[in-house]
Amino acid sequence: MAKTQHSKWLRLVGKDENKYELNCPNCGHSNIHFQYVGDTRSRIGFLDIWCDSCIHGIHISRTKIPERVDMISFEEEDEYNKRVTKFIIVERG
Ligand SMILES: [Zn+2]
Repeated sequence: MAKTQHSKWLRLVGKDENKYELNCPNCGHSNIHFQYVGDTRSRIGFLDIWCDSCIHGIHISRTKIPERVDMISFEEEDEYNKRVTKFIIVERG
């Protein structure tokens, strides 16, 4: 069975954008960004992964946020809007 676009995006989860050159599954550019958003105490929240070149990405609605990663809280709406481009969500195929 052919890999769906969505599963190609999922393969980016857990990769370090500062360490590796991550290529966009949609357009191929290495312009991938991650943003974890959640509760700062439980570190449960969601993850957005998107490409700033073609403005596509995925939204993972419930995830455990790793200790080492940068996150913003649910309340920081302005910060979220500043950091995260309004991208087109690649749906599960
Ligand atoms: Zn792209």
